[in-house]
Amino acid sequence: MARNRKTIAIIVAAGRGARAGAGGPKQYRNLAGKAVIAWTAKAFLDHPAIDAARVIVHRDDHDEYERAMGALLAHEKLLSPVTGGAERQDSVRLGLESITDDAPARVLIHDAARPFVDAATIVRVIESLDDSDGAIAALPVHDTIKRAAGATVETTVPRDALWRAQTPQGFRFDKILAAHRAAEGNVLTDDAAVAEAAGIQVKLVAGSPDNMKITQAEDFGMAELILGRKNATMEYCAGHGFDVHAFEDGNAVIICGVEIPHEKKLKGHSDADVGMHALTDAIFGAIGEGDIGDHFPPSDPQWKGAPSRVFLEKARDRVADRGGRITHCDVTLMCEAPKIGPHRNAMRNALAEILKIDAARISVKATTTEQLGFTGRREGIAAMATATIALPAGA
Ligand code: MG
Repeated sequence: MARNRKTIAIIVAAGRGARAGAGGPKQYRNLAGKAVIAWTAKAFLDHPAIDAARVIVHRDDHDEYERAMGALLAHEKLLSPVTGGAERQDSVRLGLESITDDAPARVLIHDAARPFVDAATIVRVIESLDDSDGAIAALPVHDTIKRAAGATVETTVPRDALWRAQTPQGFRFDKILAAHRAAEGNVLTDDAAVAEAAGIQVKLVAGSPDNMKITQAEDFGMAELILGRKNATMEYCAGHGFDVHAFEDGNAVIICGVEIPHEKKLKGHSDADVGMHALTDAIFGAIGEGDIGDHFPPSDPQWKGAPSRVFLEKARDRVADRGGRITHCDVTLMCEAPKIGPHRNAMRNALAEILKIDAARISVKATTTEQLGFTGRREGIAAMATATIALPAGA
């Protein structure tokens, strides 16, 4: 049944990315706290002219996809992922076949490894489809182009008619579906080539230099530079968190993700990780989104016994969803015992792994309260935390 979605984005993420080196497919690798695919998908999901988006994933990567997308999985415009094929072209065709029931007027096909596609480029491609069956983002070639035999120049190629094709590449849906069906088995390098082979006229619209494709491991450095420039207009917000948990009978406490043998345990609804709770509240505080209790009501039985990393991951994802970045965290634990010092680095590493930031950006320290008060009487542990977060200014 047609659901009258006018423009659907197909995001191709089924490659294995051997060229990007160790660390798995590049579209799932971390880029400033968020997987590359999550940056890419968000650009389309947040765009008012896009009615729905579907990601095409490798058959072995469905778990990786879910982990990488995180909170975006709940986005109302996100369609369930579809398994791709052996070649990129097969993956695109399977993606197109998967939306035949939706029968959109237009489809935009985009590489998952281009996370910086901007809203204006998406609009230019869509608008060009008003009077054309195909339109692609492209940039003129400015470098002089040589044709060579081995390492020796044969000739200089006139560049004035040459363009570098980017994605998104947009098409009238029925036309590109038919073109892909006809091209099956004839491997072409992009969807515009599939369209050209079918006689579809493809228009060029201005792409963007930032709309780079992350192909090799070194490209992540350039991607971070682009993000850094986009982040130049950030403002810095600090949030504060405080938490207390009482001791009860037991033989270990869990603090900042590290289990420490002790003659007591901490009492609580979850794993009672007092340090992680304080830090989670500090992050929510910095972005003005309440506290753990707002996001994970204690009255909801599904959070009973939940590992506290679930809370911290949520806070981390909310920062990323806001386009923000966790700059620094500082946690202070107050207790007479157990001794925290020997575990500080393990705690920093555990928090860094969850927050996907460098451990150098995380401080954990401890103090006693000189045997004064409830911590001094060894009745429980208190924790304070401060989080500093960069957010897009004015957002
Ligand atoms: Mg707590």
